[in-house]
Amino acid sequence: MKSLKQFRKALHFMPGGVNSPVRAYGSVDCSPLFIAKGKGSKIYDIDGNEYIDYVCSWGALILGYSHPSVVRAVQAAAKKGTSFGAPTAAETTLAEMICSAFDSIDKVRLVSSGTEAVMTAVRLARAFTGRDYILKMSGCYHGHSDSMLVSAGSGSAEFSKPLCPGVPKALSSLTLVAEYNDIDSAAKAFKKYKNKIAACIIEPVAANMGIVLPKPGYLQALRKLCNENKALLIFDEVITGFRLCFGGAQNIFKIKPDLTCLGKIIGGGVPCAAVGGKAKIMNLLSPIGPVYQAGTLSGNPLATAAAIATLKILKDKDFYARLEQNSIYLHLGLLDAAKKASIPVTINRIGSLLSCFFTQKKVENFSDAKSADTKLFKAFFASMLKNRIYLAPSPFEAMFISAALTKKDIEKTIFAAQNTFKRLK
Ligand SMILES: *Cc1c(COP(=O)(O)O)cnc(C)c1O
Repeated sequence: MKSLKQFRKALHFMPGGVNSPVRAYGSVDCSPLFIAKGKGSKIYDIDGNEYIDYVCSWGALILGYSHPSVVRAVQAAAKKGTSFGAPTAAETTLAEMICSAFDSIDKVRLVSSGTEAVMTAVRLARAFTGRDYILKMSGCYHGHSDSMLVSAGSGSAEFSKPLCPGVPKALSSLTLVAEYNDIDSAAKAFKKYKNKIAACIIEPVAANMGIVLPKPGYLQALRKLCNENKALLIFDEVITGFRLCFGGAQNIFKIKPDLTCLGKIIGGGVPCAAVGGKAKIMNLLSPIGPVYQAGTLSGNPLATAAAIATLKILKDKDFYARLEQNSIYLHLGLLDAAKKASIPVTINRIGSLLSCFFTQKKVENFSDAKSADTKLFKAFFASMLKNRIYLAPSPFEAMFISAALTKKDIEKTIFAAQNTFKRLK
């Protein structure tokens, strides 16, 4: 009730009452919970309800809420000063940690959001190649910079159109859209726009249309296609970076992109993101190169403190193995619950990223994801929430499994899913 009251007030002062659209719960027909606090695997609304959390600030909080080491690091940093706009040793420590985790990254630039990281990667790719076109994949999200806010027009790779008003056609026409997991559609774009494409950008594991894994050989083929066409390959690992291993999806699939975008986890819940890659590309950035990029709060002391504290914990050699065990447990539990209730689901999972699509079909691209039953998702979401399980309020968002979740939390989640599926039947 307090949440509803707050939401009504917020509507007066902020468009839609929120500062990022998905928070408004528009795709699940509810009004949003207002959050009071989070601790470990739990999030608490201002009415005092406790929920087991699978959002983790959209994947940023792989350690769960208010991890003591992260909080301590941020508090200590804040006491010494929240921002200097001048170099600090912590920036180099974080940069070194990132470079050591990725073979493909010689140098990084720290920024404050994933959007900014992608915007910089795209500018670098255009400058490095002297070309203007960018190829992206349908259903992949790369933040909200103009060049990335396009959707496939009819005829797929041939055309794209602005996703929303305010994005000039002149700019959106420079972004081509191919189908995820379909190398032929990317090849077609490269053929039609020969020597014009600066870079292909992709989420190596798509995580913004629900979780969609790359088919075996797809990323390798894309790497080859970029090489043949002298275009750069940009991996947007804003979600997958440090989510699947100490590094990115590129370490798992053994592909070296030319540029990598990081965000979410590397800030440990404080605004921090990065773009990194080969020195000869990164050195194009100002002040040593001609490509301008800057940020008043980039590499800010609170962000670097949270990031370093988080990455130190992730470095533990058993960290990802433990996370995998819990993730498997949840995966099998959900599958079993759906099966027992004869609810058709396809669960896509890699590591601690999981999506439950209400369809019998395999989900391998955006069209497949969109064909799942969104009505059933809405009912699933609402019932899980009633059972005090906090899921992302959209069928196209993943479940993020944090290291703070206990076996008991997962058992409660599976139990809630069993009840929910029985009711949905
Ligand atoms: C969240 C996200 C972004 C944008 O990051 P922000 O920090 O929200 O600007 C970019 N790419 C991917 C893959 C993301 O998931």
